[in-house]
Amino acid sequence: MQDLKVSVVEILGRPGANRHISITKPLEGVRVGLAHLEPAPIAAELTLESVIEGVLVTGPVSGDVRCSCARCLTEFEAAVEVDVCELFASAGHLEEDEDVYRVSGEVLDLEPMLRDELTLALPLNPLCRDDCKGMCARCGRELNDGACDCTEDTSDSRWAALDEVRAKLEQG
Ligand SMILES: [Zn+2]
Ligand SMILES: [Zn+2]
Repeated sequence: MQDLKVSVVEILGRPGANRHISITKPLEGVRVGLAHLEPAPIAAELTLESVIEGVLVTGPVSGDVRCSCARCLTEFEAAVEVDVCELFASAGHLEEDEDVYRVSGEVLDLEPMLRDELTLALPLNPLCRDDCKGMCARCGRELNDGACDCTEDTSDSRWAALDEVRAKLEQG
């Protein structure tokens, strides 16, 4: 398994110097309510650039995501891609309690940053397709397959049950 701790000894304290790294590694436990990263490895092409304050990490990060549709709960796969741009501050360039990533010694631990970025990039309200009709709150039928017999007079309450579930998931 590839280590996400990267040595920056060659560039640290030499503003302008940089190195490039490619990462292919699974990240476990990255999830929001209705979406989570697949066990398949994520891919990251990162440039580590030495700056006055520490090391600036930039580049694309992508991964495969498994989602449950927020309307019909069908599972489907999607891709997520995010361009990161994060400073890892070196000692002496931040207050003790400042909430930023840090250069630890001469090493960057990229894992917390990659987790944060990918978690933020996951869809909060995934839809299996833009016009997903969801399922009937009364009989449970998938309305993408056709209307059920109880769709009349339910226009206001149709989504109520699912909306409740969704609201809870989003809070958690
Ligand atoms: Zn759906
Ligand atoms: Zn129905």
